[in-house]
Amino acid sequence: MYKLLSSHKILSFTLIIILIQSCATVPITGRRQLKMIPDETIQSTSAEQYKSFLAEHKISSDSRGIRLVKKVGTRIQHAVEMYLESEGLSHLLDGYDWEFSLIESKELNAWCMPGGKVVVYTKILKAAQNEGGLAVIIGHEIAHAIAEHGNERMSQILLAQMGGIALSTALAQRPQQTQQLWMDAFGMGASLGVLLPFSRTHESEADHLGLIFMSIAGYDPNYAIGFWERMAEMSENNAPDEFFSTHPSDERRIREIQKLIPSVMEYYEDSDKVTVRH
Ligand SMILES: [Zn+2]
Repeated sequence: MYKLLSSHKILSFTLIIILIQSCATVPITGRRQLKMIPDETIQSTSAEQYKSFLAEHKISSDSRGIRLVKKVGTRIQHAVEMYLESEGLSHLLDGYDWEFSLIESKELNAWCMPGGKVVVYTKILKAAQNEGGLAVIIGHEIAHAIAEHGNERMSQILLAQMGGIALSTALAQRPQQTQQLWMDAFGMGASLGVLLPFSRTHESEADHLGLIFMSIAGYDPNYAIGFWERMAEMSENNAPDEFFSTHPSDERRIREIQKLIPSVMEYYEDSDKVTVRH
């Protein structure tokens, strides 16, 4: 009977098995997601990628900027720890070893890899304008990591482009291509020239969680409106930055954030508020 199955059918059958085995639930939002890569593999690969990324890029010499990134990052880290503890989800931070870096770059970007490796680029720090704007970016990027969007994207890529093979096999067989796909999945840059836009679902989840985290950290969530309005303006001026293809900044996003703000205000009211200098 097996002889009658075409290789196409066998492949589809294999993929269905992988899909059944690889479903997970996004914390907090409860959305079901595809998650094929074990957490340990994700975290060890992240640590390696972070290390080689820093070795290949220029660390900023702006000591004030570095201090600010570390300050805001650490406040948001503590907010995430508090929030996940209150939700009984502290295990999501198992294996995390937080680090916050500022790199000198003409690119507009920032990202957080699983395990808590956060990188802010000097151009986006400038666009943030102040501590409140920086809290929006860092909160949003950390939220992507907590919701495991990178694992989901990388799993989708492994399934769509490599027939569902394991990440370790892909890295062993096609190291360069896999590394480039990894960078794409985690928002570190599109080295293949074709950037998958982050899905609307991922962006909305990261906006929502990011607003919660920044509010608990003591930053007024209303800073998110000003920040994304500035991004929308920069994007309309045809800025070629990749960040705009991964993070469409438009009226829809701003409207959604406006709707969410009343629901996160209580976190801000209860927080140890930060006075932002402009
Ligand atoms: Zn995002």
